[in-house]
Order: sequence, then structure tokens, then C-alpha cells
Amino acid sequence: MKILCIGRNYAEHIAELQNETPTDPVIFAKPDTALLQRNQPFFMPDFSQDIHHEIELVLRVCKNGKNIEEKFAPSYFDAIGLGIDFTARDLQSQLKSKGLPWELAKGFDGSAPISQEFKPVHGFADLNNIDFRLAVNGEVRQQGNSGLMLHNFNKIISYISRFITLKMGDLIFTGTPSGVGPVTVGDQLTGFIGEEKLLDLAVK
Ligand code: MG
Repeated sequence: MKILCIGRNYAEHIAELQNETPTDPVIFAKPDTALLQRNQPFFMPDFSQDIHHEIELVLRVCKNGKNIEEKFAPSYFDAIGLGIDFTARDLQSQLKSKGLPWELAKGFDGSAPISQEFKPVHGFADLNNIDFRLAVNGEVRQQGNSGLMLHNFNKIISYISRFITLKMGDLIFTGTPSGVGPVTVGDQLTGFIGEEKLLDLAVK
């Protein structure tokens, strides 16, 4: 099982970090040890003073595939959940400024909490109109809608599979909307798809 992530997939988030808008999706990976499940608490690591939350819709891959055409992509994921792409922003900035890969800023232990429940794809009226949000201590910090993605789910599946074979059980983080910001010890993070709370974890 692997965790693949899309960077820079929402225009307003690209603007807030003053990044360039890519023509192709930006892809990176997190190791399976990044996974945090069942609303286990997130423990602040000692190597960063600036851990940011990035709430994201997460696809669950249900079938192995390579070189998947966009029109066939819908049959390769069967459920959508929520995840947080925790990012050590200070470390990432340092590495980016040196032109180095930012793997450690994104792939550290516990950097990928996911919701226990994933919603079956067939339960959504429109995959291009899914509202989701993140609240910190009850205050909404990030709000997104899948319709605002620069590269939609099918494009993401198709693009990744040109390079990396997708396997059943893989997870794909699909990018974060604007509003990313630091978390601190004692914060309670809650994530919603529509009005349903799927994530609820403490920062310790
Ligand atoms: Mg992200």
C-alpha cells in the first residue's frame, strides 16, 4: 500500500504560498508509516516549529492499473475519505530554497491522518461538487470543493498511472484548498465532508 499526494491543485492555495501554477499535476509520496488512523492523536515532531494542516479529499484505489485512460479512471477508485497532509513548512521551505526534494517535510511519521470511514463513490451526487472543510478548535480554517481542483480525480488517476502502477488499497491525497496554517499542542482538528464529521484528532 502506498500514499500518493497531489501538490498545488487549488489556485487559491498556490497563491497563498506564492508558488507557480504547474501544467501537470505535482506528485509526491508519503511512506506507509505516515498513516494515522482511528483519530489517533498527532504528536508534534521535534524537528519543526511550523507544522501546517492541509485538509484534503482522499481517494481509495480499488483496482490495480497502469496507463489508465481518463475515461476509465472512475472504475479505479471506489471511495472518498478525508485526510490531513501535515507539512513541516519551515523544513519544506529550507529544502525548496536549496532545490532539494522535500520528502522529509511531508513524509514524516504521523503526517497522514485519514478518516476511518470512507464514503462510497456511488453515494455522491456529483464528484465535481464535494464540499469539505477543516476546523481548528471549532473555528473553520479551510473550506474546499472538489470542483475547484485544477486536475480532477480522473486526470489525477490517469496521470499518476503513466508513471506508477496503482494498486488496490493505495490512497491518493488530492490537494488542499487555501487556509493552510500552523497547528499547536492542544489543538483539536475536525474535518467534514458536507456536514458529516469524519476526522477528529488532537494535536499533542
Ligand atoms: Mg497537500
